[in-house]
Amino acid sequence: MSSLFFQIASLFYVSLITIIYFSKKKRKTLENKIYLGLIYVTFIALILDMASVYLAIVDVNHPFANLLCKLYLVGIVGWVFLFTYYIFVISSRRNKSNEYGEMEPSDAKYFKIIFWLLMSIYLISSLMILVFPLYIYSDKNLMYTYGPSAIFSYSITGVCLIFWFVIMLSNLKEIKDKKYLPAFAFVVLAGVSAAIQAAFPEILLVTSAAAFITVLTYFTIENPDLKLINELNIAKDQAEHANNAKSDFLSNMSHEIRSPLNAIVGFSQALSEEDLPLQAKEEVKDIMMASETLLEIVNGILDISKIEANKLEIVDTEYNFNTVLEELVALTKARLGEKPLEFRYSFDPSIPPYLYGDKVRVKQVILNLLTNAVKYTKEGWIEFKVSSIQKDGICRLIISVEDSGIGIKKESIDKLFTKFERLDIEKNNTIEGTGLGLAITKKLLELMDGQIVVQSVYGQGSKFTIALDQKIVENPTKVLEPTKVSNIEAIDLSDKKILIVDDNRINLKVATRLLKDYRCQIEAVDSGFECIEKIKAGNHYDLILMDDMMPKMSGVETYHQLQQLPGYHTPTIALTANAISGMKEKYLQEGFHDYLAKPIDKTELYRVLVKFLQQDDVL
Ligand code: ADP
Repeated sequence: MSSLFFQIASLFYVSLITIIYFSKKKRKTLENKIYLGLIYVTFIALILDMASVYLAIVDVNHPFANLLCKLYLVGIVGWVFLFTYYIFVISSRRNKSNEYGEMEPSDAKYFKIIFWLLMSIYLISSLMILVFPLYIYSDKNLMYTYGPSAIFSYSITGVCLIFWFVIMLSNLKEIKDKKYLPAFAFVVLAGVSAAIQAAFPEILLVTSAAAFITVLTYFTIENPDLKLINELNIAKDQAEHANNAKSDFLSNMSHEIRSPLNAIVGFSQALSEEDLPLQAKEEVKDIMMASETLLEIVNGILDISKIEANKLEIVDTEYNFNTVLEELVALTKARLGEKPLEFRYSFDPSIPPYLYGDKVRVKQVILNLLTNAVKYTKEGWIEFKVSSIQKDGICRLIISVEDSGIGIKKESIDKLFTKFERLDIEKNNTIEGTGLGLAITKKLLELMDGQIVVQSVYGQGSKFTIALDQKIVENPTKVLEPTKVSNIEAIDLSDKKILIVDDNRINLKVATRLLKDYRCQIEAVDSGFECIEKIKAGNHYDLILMDDMMPKMSGVETYHQLQQLPGYHTPTIALTANAISGMKEKYLQEGFHDYLAKPIDKTELYRVLVKFLQQDDVL
């Protein structure tokens, strides 16, 4: 009975799979139900196969031998139809079920219709297999069937095989997304074994191949553990996708908000210098303060969305740490305003003046702690200390900000670094804040391999301490210019000509207004094309302020085209609302001479004007 070897082996492993399959917990999805059906049909086909082979070899003229062989063909074609339905369902976009395995009623109905359609074709085919004549060849150990009934069974299997391929290829994305690619291997396997069977009918391979595919399907697709992992992975991908979409939205929004803010900040800065009645002056000051707060919030949202999308980069450069400390002290003093607070600060004189790191982020992190100390301390003192440990070219900065403020409850300390989490709301409701500052601080420190710890006694005060390593720069490679200009002096640029390029009409007005005080000659155009036209027409400018984000042709593109023009050497400054850390370096790399972030800061504008238009007085 060597011809029964495949079938007996198949029966053995299909039984094993059935036991394993039933011992696992699974959801009752449509796929699972069909797969269960496939296991049953495989069993029936194997038993019919063995019975018909046995009977045909023992007594080929037995009155049931022919019927048994036909019933076997009906069984194997049944497997083919069920597998067709299975392939159809797993490839379909509509095959989605909730956690209880239930589908949308319209989808369930759709699959039901397909099932009954296939079932009807199957029933008609079965009838034909039973009606068509079938002949049995039997010779001791060898037996096979032939004749119209067998040919019809092969043909219908062939048609189904083509259908599987077509269905799967036309739903390739769905199959890929659901990680059902192994199904392609089964289709190939089924095709090859059907072809071998048709060419060598005596091999009796088909049932074993069907059983083998049923088992392989378990290991590659239908294993409940595998399915769970797949579903988890798909859910994870979807969550990541949604999170990225949210981050992109936030980053676009903050960019959009910056543009109108540019107008508010720019015009109020200009107005504050006008000869206004006292009350109007006060109100303009309030507008400026409010827009500064708004800008901080927008920057916070931009930062957190960049951090979450893993798009925030730490941009290391050489910088003057003393300048950073001076700026931090000046900013904190300005924020203290009328508050009855003593601000003490002491810095270790041995800290090397030049360090290598992300100056902007280092400053941001410390400023956040200082701002919080001012915000959450009504009276008493704030102490800002920086000490250092130096070893092997690395300076470990130990920065502490301590206050005698409201303090933080013990149970709230863990929530401190969670975004949008504000503590003690009843007590703090008069203090402005978003709950983003410390979350950003923590993430930035993680990105810079730094650490932060908090000590606090509720009602008495808090102490935030940061440890951050920065490389020591012995000999700075370039002259490190101060980042801010402390006081703006009146300069006369009446012999200078400046071209402003910006697609936003209001932004053009703001820039024009801010430049008015310098009495320079100003021209404004609202596209890169016009700018290129002006230069081509032979107009000469001493400086060009170029917005980057313009429709049709960006500022970067415009600038690259300008550079191609013979004799073009005009200092060109990039202007953008996309003001995140690293942008300045990006624009300098593109060849721009300098960079101004929107909203345009008056002192920054002054620095640029002095640098490029008053060459003798370079800062
Ligand atoms: P924001 O200050 O914008 O609310 P932060 O993330 O900077 O957000 O701070 C989160 C919370 O931690 C604050 O709402 C406040 O309750 C608490 N907090 C931060 N710094 C201090 C401090 N120095 N003293 C007391 N509470 C603080």
